[in-house]
Amino acid sequence: MSKTYVVVAEVRDSKLRQVTLEALNSVALAQEDDDLLAVILMGHQLAAITEQLSQYVAGQIHVIDHIDLGTYNSETYFAAIKDVLDSLNPHVVFLGHTASGRDLAPMIAAYLNAGQLSDVIAIEKADAEVLYTRPLYAGKAFEQKKFIESPQVVTIRPNNIAAATANPSNPQAEVITTDYAPPASLRSIVKDVIRKTSGKVDLTEAKIVVSGGRGVKSSDGFKPLQELAEVLNGAVGASRGACDAGYCDYALQIGQTGKVVTPEIYIACGISGAIQHLAGMSQSRIIIAINKDPEAPIFKLADYGIVGDLFVVVPLLTEEFKKALA
Ligand SMILES: Cc1cc2nc3c(=O)[nH]c(=O)nc-3n(C[C@H](O)[C@H](O)[C@H](O)COP(=O)(O)OP(=O)(O)OC[C@H]3O[C@@H](n4cnc5c(N)ncnc54)[C@H](O)[C@@H]3O)c2cc1C
Repeated sequence: MSKTYVVVAEVRDSKLRQVTLEALNSVALAQEDDDLLAVILMGHQLAAITEQLSQYVAGQIHVIDHIDLGTYNSETYFAAIKDVLDSLNPHVVFLGHTASGRDLAPMIAAYLNAGQLSDVIAIEKADAEVLYTRPLYAGKAFEQKKFIESPQVVTIRPNNIAAATANPSNPQAEVITTDYAPPASLRSIVKDVIRKTSGKVDLTEAKIVVSGGRGVKSSDGFKPLQELAEVLNGAVGASRGACDAGYCDYALQIGQTGKVVTPEIYIACGISGAIQHLAGMSQSRIIIAINKDPEAPIFKLADYGIVGDLFVVVPLLTEEFKKALA
């Protein structure tokens, strides 16, 4: 019997987040040919994103477009999604393992009486079973799990599963518009979102992250790192040491108590490599460490190590990349 796979799309700053395309590919990895893919798209002024999604989706796109959904709020989003979930009777619901995905997924799981697997980094099929891999103990071990019952809720870690590719020859997606009825009362209202971003590229989705630690010595010390990140179209991150010292905002913190990133390239500048920091970046594909102490623990994990002063090395790298990318 065919099953329904649901992806809860995520929109940020009027753009579809990359992790939604990765969730669409997660469905492709798990589903059988005759299963239905249904995307639920919530937000405000969604016409362009609906159009974009239709290049990826051969099934249904459920659009719930309302001014109250312009900014994520767990109560409004949950109120909006409930009835659509009822009508779809999903086998699996996929969300990004992002701030809002992590918030909404357990609410959906509780509502559907579903099992939940969080922070999945790989999906594979073995015979008829779908196996989900997720990291444990801050990335020191991995477990592979399967569900024994349905419905299921899965959050996927950004930057780990390949993104779906657009297919203009897709059969036209069926776009279904659903009205939004605001709940009678809300316990919280989002008045404003103040984003302390590290630049144009979202830290958790960046392909390249240039991170600074206590070795940058001041907030000005982050400037060369920002320049390098800009040239590489990457994002700037930080260790807690740098955040605690007041050199940068905690929004940049990577690690056990900060953000988890898995970029293609992670450049650690003046970061010693404490276990709590590694918990947030050890799954990066290529790790480059710049540190003046050849005994710094970060070199044990790094694929490439540069022993030197970051204030000399980073500007040199920036210049070379500028030339190479010109
Ligand atoms: C419960 C708990 C949770 C934590 N969570 C996190 C977390 O989420 N993320 C996190 O990062 N930490 C976390 N920590 C803190 C962690 O243990 C470390 O203290 C922190 O990561 C150290 O930051 P750092 O590497 O920037 O600083 P340091 O350990 O002081 O290292 C600075 C490095 O810079 C190098 N350096 C100095 N000057 C230069 C220069 N000019 N050029 C090149 N290199 C230079 C030094 O050789 C040194 O290796 C946590 C700790 C606890 C107890």
